[in-house]
Amino acid sequence: MNPTHATDNEIRFEDFPLDDKLQHNVASLGYQQPTPIQAQAIPHLLQGSDILAGAQTGTGKTAAFGIPLIQALLDTPVSESAAHNAVRALVITPTRELAQQVFDNLEPLAKDTGLKIVAAYGGTSINVQTKNLKGGTDILVATPGRLLDHQHVRNITLAECHYLVLDEADRMLDMGFMPDLNRIIKRLPRERQTMMFSATFETRIKTLAYRLMQDPVEVQVTPENSTAETVKQMVYPVDKKRKHELLAYLIGSRNWQQVLVFTKTKQGSDALAKELKLDGINAVSINGDKSQGARQKALDDFKSGKVRALIATDVAARGLDIQQLEQVVNYELPYKAEDYIHRIGRTGRAGRAGFAVSLMSHDEHYLLEAIERLLDARLPQEWLEGFEPSPEPPVENESGRRKSGRSADKRKMKAKLKIHANRGKHKSR
Ligand code: AMP
Repeated sequence: MNPTHATDNEIRFEDFPLDDKLQHNVASLGYQQPTPIQAQAIPHLLQGSDILAGAQTGTGKTAAFGIPLIQALLDTPVSESAAHNAVRALVITPTRELAQQVFDNLEPLAKDTGLKIVAAYGGTSINVQTKNLKGGTDILVATPGRLLDHQHVRNITLAECHYLVLDEADRMLDMGFMPDLNRIIKRLPRERQTMMFSATFETRIKTLAYRLMQDPVEVQVTPENSTAETVKQMVYPVDKKRKHELLAYLIGSRNWQQVLVFTKTKQGSDALAKELKLDGINAVSINGDKSQGARQKALDDFKSGKVRALIATDVAARGLDIQQLEQVVNYELPYKAEDYIHRIGRTGRAGRAGFAVSLMSHDEHYLLEAIERLLDARLPQEWLEGFEPSPEPPVENESGRRKSGRSADKRKMKAKLKIHANRGKHKSR
């Protein structure tokens, strides 16, 4: 085979110059072939390049940086003069769940290599983490706040950390982590390999990314802002007050055994879980108000099949990797169109088939329009028998002419924005 003509699909893990144990671990995980993002990113990363990688959720991003990272650490033995609390590589994630999940993915890859991996995130005891960090750490997977806590009490030093991974970088920057990130990055050596992985890359985020990296290679496995091809999508227009009934009907009539449902608010997620339970559907909510223990238990029960419906907010659901999750429901459409991509990225992972359903009420048309603009595609819509939405409420305009509900939504939105803008003006005076 002429390697210059090899396609991504023809690349095998055996083609990468990896340590035998690492190669063995990859095989033990059942990874037969690199995913497209792995095929593209791993060769650059093995050569030490910085990378800006746009890959949607579920494409194998973690192993795409994990494999070269483990290889690099195995190639460079710990120096004798290393500080007792030195961290050699840092993976920063925006949420606790993602930190735990990245840790869970990296552990089996590093099995029997002697590398020590530690996860450190808020909501759990700092003492256990402190103990784990003693004697230095090869890979620290952390959320920004807890990382700074450890840094503050000198549990770690980042002065010898030559590898930095920002996972779900767009979200991290978006969630207001920039001040924390700046503080962390200031403590890292300038000579380092920086890897940014993200499902979406807006120009604003890209500009920031370039400030943190040196001549990064840019890889993009799917067009920007796209959803996995294996996910079938459907929008069901329905009256707001009948959404819960429709959801219960869909779960029951289609015999969905494991469904992840997104709501916009924490209160909404709790209320919906209660309502579904009344319908005899075992449901549990997962949101930022719950303790880390409760969130983990909900997730474990969902993964093991004890719980049929997991009701989550966007933040709580970041990074959930549930094998063979076939069903995602947008009970409410997200305010931010990008969140739609993140949400439905929970299904159709690693090439599996998935189904993403959105229940859309009249007042959410403008949110669907934003999603369709971002995807540059129309999503299929279907009325479900017995749940047809009532006609859009006609709105009278000033001249007495009737406006369609859709343009009325837009007008309402504009009015809202105007109020916000005016409020801002008053404040700053
Ligand atoms: P990630 O995008 O890192 O969250 O990965 C999504 C899922 O794909 C995880 O469950 C991984 O274990 C799995 N995965 C990663 N790489 C491969 C591969 N080369 N072959 C099959 N599955 C993979």
